[in-house]
Amino acid sequence: MEPALKYFIWAPLALTGPDLVAAENQLLEIQGSRIASMQTVRKSDLPASVTDHPRFTCLAEGQTLMPALIDGHVHLALDGEDFKQARAAWDRPHALEGRIRRALEEMTRSGIGAVRDGGDCRAINLEARALVSEGRCKGPRIVATGRAVREKGGYGTFLGPDYGSRESIPAVVEQALASGADQLKVVVSGVVSFIEYGLVKGLLMEPDSLRRLTACARERGLKVMAHASSAEAVEMAIAAGVNSIEHGYFVNQAGLQGMAERQVAWVPTVIPVAVQAREPLSSLRTPLEIEVITATCKGQAGKLTRALQLGVPLGAGTDSGAAGVGHAHSLIEELLLYRAGGLSNRQVLKAATIANAGILGLEKEYGQVERGYRAALIAVRGNPLQDLNILKTVTFHALPR
Ligand SMILES: [Zn+2]
Repeated sequence: MEPALKYFIWAPLALTGPDLVAAENQLLEIQGSRIASMQTVRKSDLPASVTDHPRFTCLAEGQTLMPALIDGHVHLALDGEDFKQARAAWDRPHALEGRIRRALEEMTRSGIGAVRDGGDCRAINLEARALVSEGRCKGPRIVATGRAVREKGGYGTFLGPDYGSRESIPAVVEQALASGADQLKVVVSGVVSFIEYGLVKGLLMEPDSLRRLTACARERGLKVMAHASSAEAVEMAIAAGVNSIEHGYFVNQAGLQGMAERQVAWVPTVIPVAVQAREPLSSLRTPLEIEVITATCKGQAGKLTRALQLGVPLGAGTDSGAAGVGHAHSLIEELLLYRAGGLSNRQVLKAATIANAGILGLEKEYGQVERGYRAALIAVRGNPLQDLNILKTVTFHALPR
């Protein structure tokens, strides 16, 4: 979609506004990549100035227009298949760029209009962002975190460097800003054990350093996303003032309440654990490990309705790029796990649109079919409020430049 041009889209049904209200016979006029107007007009009443317009899209009966989906947590530097193979490609720029282009194009085809990247130690996510923003590749809007910041000796060397000493924290934040990062990612805890239920392996970040990192970042206008898997890490991150909790596999009631009170968003990422108990990865696991993995997913999905009841801003992210979590298609898998966890289709769709837009800092531009918003729109056959599976086939997408 070219910003200088005018477009018209007519949809028999559109999911509109912050609550995805189903509205019939919607005519959208798009100017400057934004929805300039929305009105209710029956198809038979469309004026010739619209139907004869060279950039008029008329969606077929039975199709639903809705905001493009947003994946709140991806790693474009990884391939979702094999960690070692993906890392080996980091030293082969041509192969790496080809793979990232394919992932971005697949995201577009899958109706993903924006993603937030959780970082990598080479800041490849910043290069991916440039590919799209400079018009060299079709793809979603990318909110990039550049390199993540972690504890010395802690988990996540592939995500980014440690912050050094307490004294160097302001400089670490300045470096993130200078690199062009849109947000700051901090690695507060290690990863979930698939052998012992409830165990999170690895060091916790030092609380005082986390507070300082968060304060410095927020002072400089950067949101802070915190990788925190244990209940302890979640509570520490909330107390430090982060903007979002990533994973939070063992978050407890106090953690959920804290998130609700301070309006800290939660991006639970259920799918990277769930795929460990599915083919083909499940064949690498013992029956006991499968039990631990299944219990971890169930526990996580079971907390989603509680989170919404308390008022936690609930987003949706896949951690795509992680082993077994392919880019693009995994988002629908994540959403189906939310549904299985007891959320309504509307609640699930809101997590992947309006809530995620807020988490990305794009709440005024993305996540709604509404006047003034960017025309990041998709269409699907049927009504996703009735069946989320229809999101697997996107029949139309508009991506504003
Ligand atoms: Zn991640």
